Amino acid sequence: MRIVFFSTKPYDKDFFEKYNQTHELIFHEVALSEQSVRLAEGADGVCVFVNDKLNAVVIDALKNLGIRIIALRCAGFNNVDTEAARKAGIKVVRVPAYSPHAVAEHALALIMTLNRKTHKAYNRVREGNFSLEKLTGFDLYHKTVGVVGTGKIGGVFARIMLALGCQVLAYDKFPDESLAAAGVKYIELQDLLAQADIVSLHCPLSDSTHHLINRQALAQMKKGVMLINTSRGGLIDTQAVIEALKDKTVGYLGIDVYEQEENIFFNDLSEQVLQDDTLARLMTFPNVLITSHQGFLTEEALSQIALITLQNISDFQNGLPLVNEI
Ligand code: NAD
Repeated sequence: MRIVFFSTKPYDKDFFEKYNQTHELIFHEVALSEQSVRLAEGADGVCVFVNDKLNAVVIDALKNLGIRIIALRCAGFNNVDTEAARKAGIKVVRVPAYSPHAVAEHALALIMTLNRKTHKAYNRVREGNFSLEKLTGFDLYHKTVGVVGTGKIGGVFARIMLALGCQVLAYDKFPDESLAAAGVKYIELQDLLAQADIVSLHCPLSDSTHHLINRQALAQMKKGVMLINTSRGGLIDTQAVIEALKDKTVGYLGIDVYEQEENIFFNDLSEQVLQDDTLARLMTFPNVLITSHQGFLTEEALSQIALITLQNISDFQNGLPLVNEI
C-alpha cells in the first residue's frame, strides 16, 4: 500500500525504513491539517502522530482523496474525530502499547531531576561551581505517590515507585487487581490529591478528563506537591497551575506534554521568538521542568511503533481482523 506520513522526524524515517518490507512509504515533515491534506493524494492511507489534526474537515478531505486507513503511530487518539472517520468509512488503527516502560521511566526521570536538581548540578559543575547551595532534595523512600490512571503506563510507573519504597495510592475507574495485590492502594481521586506528595497523571485525555487538574483539584493538594504529567497536556489547566506555582501550592512541576504543544513541541524554535506567553511563563519558574513530548523516545519504543504500525497496515491490506482498530 502507498502510505503518506505526516509530521515525520528523522527517527520515524529511520525506524520505519528499517522494518518496512511491503509498503511504499512517503514521508512529509509537515503536520496533517486542512492546508496540508492534499499531500495524501494518490495514497491508500496516511500515517500520523499526536499533533496531526484529524478533525471532520480533514477526514472528509481524506475520504475524497480515497484514503481508506488512518494509521496512528501513537497510543492516544484524542486528535482524531473518530465519529467522522466512522461515517467516512475510514478505518483508524493505532499502537495501543509499544513500551509502557519508556513513558513510565521518563516520568521517573522528571521526578528525579526535579527532586535532586541534576540538571542544575550538571551546568554548575561544568562552570567550575562545586557549591551545593540550593541543591537539597528529599528521599523518595516512604513518600506518598498518587497515580491517576493505572493502565499500561500508570501500572509500570506504580510498580517502579513501589520498588523505590514509596507508598503508592491510585485512582482508576477500573482498578487493577494485580497492582492492588502488589501494594497499590486504590482510593477516590479527591483523597489521592489530598494525601500525595507526588501526583503523576497517566489517564487518557477525553471530554471527561479535560482539565482534570483545575483550580479546585489544585486546592485539594498538599502544599508543595510535585505534579508530573507525561500523558496529555489538556489534563492540566495551565493557567491554574501557574497560579498554584506562584502561591507555592505546587512545589514542583514536571511536564512532558503541554496543552498548546502543537506547532511548538518536536520543532527546533531556538532561532525564533516564542509566541506562547503561557509556556514562556512556565519556563521562568526554577521548579518547573519541561521536556517536549519525549516520553516515547527509546529504541525499544520506536521499534515497536514501526513494527506494529506496519502490521496494522498489512492486516488491513490482507483483510485480516484489525486488532488495534479504534
Ligand atoms: P491505558 O489505556 O493502558 O491506560 C489508561 C488508564 O486510565 C486506564 O486504566 C483507564 O481506566 C484510566 N482512566 C480513564 N479515565 C480515567 C479517569 N478519569 N481517571 C483515572 N483513570 C482513568 O493507556 P496507557 O498506554 O497507559 O497510556 C496513558 C496515556 O499516556 C495515553 O492516553 C497517552 O495520552 C499518554 N502517552 C504519552 C506518551 C508520551 O510520549 N509522553 C506516550 C504514550 C502515551
